[in-house]
Amino acid sequence: MKSILQSLYLLQLLDTELDELRELRGDLPETVNTMESELALVERRIEEIDEALKRGATERSMKEKESLELIDKIEKYKGQQLEVTNNREYDALTREMETAETTIVTNEALVQEWIEQNEELKASKEQFATRREELSKELEVKREELKDILETTREEEIGFEQRREQAMSEVLDRDMQLYKRIRDAKGKAVVPIRRESCSGCYNIVPPQLILEIKKNDRLFTCEHCGRILVSEEIALEMQL
Ligand SMILES: [Zn+2]
Repeated sequence: MKSILQSLYLLQLLDTELDELRELRGDLPETVNTMESELALVERRIEEIDEALKRGATERSMKEKESLELIDKIEKYKGQQLEVTNNREYDALTREMETAETTIVTNEALVQEWIEQNEELKASKEQFATRREELSKELEVKREELKDILETTREEEIGFEQRREQAMSEVLDRDMQLYKRIRDAKGKAVVPIRRESCSGCYNIVPPQLILEIKKNDRLFTCEHCGRILVSEEIALEMQL
């Protein structure tokens, strides 16, 4: 039993160390993730704008080409009108010319609309490009920071994790579940008795209970905070 108590206490020591390492990293990994997602969005938006600009340019040149062709046609109709022999043919050509003129006017309006839209798209692309540049720079700094922290803590972390695995394998599943439950609720699950008190909640531990705990043959929890209590002896023996 004593070895299980030792393992539980060791597990707590290792988890405390790992918590501190993660604390050191803070929300940096999360920040980097968020920034990466935003950058991807901005880049996609820029691509979409480029596509819209390209589509608009194609459409514009099509309409302009059509209008030029229609101008040629109108000239041709005018020539034909000089040669027709009856009013019916003359009127038919007039109608053709009117239709062509209407299309030219419509095309001009479309081109004008496109020019305005083009300006808006370019302005918005410029804004996104500025944001992309800002983000890329910030992201580079944050990634570098994270990389430095990871490099300096990685070896230590791996060491702690390996010892943690080992300690876990020496604890019964049932005790491990209890450990996890208390840890989730309280942060620390295993605490030694210090100065006749629980070092988790600082409440006095009754002398009779201290005697029992000192035997290191059973698992006791603090009646105030519910943490697993171990003797000072175990705390002294088990140090990282
Ligand atoms: Zn307590």
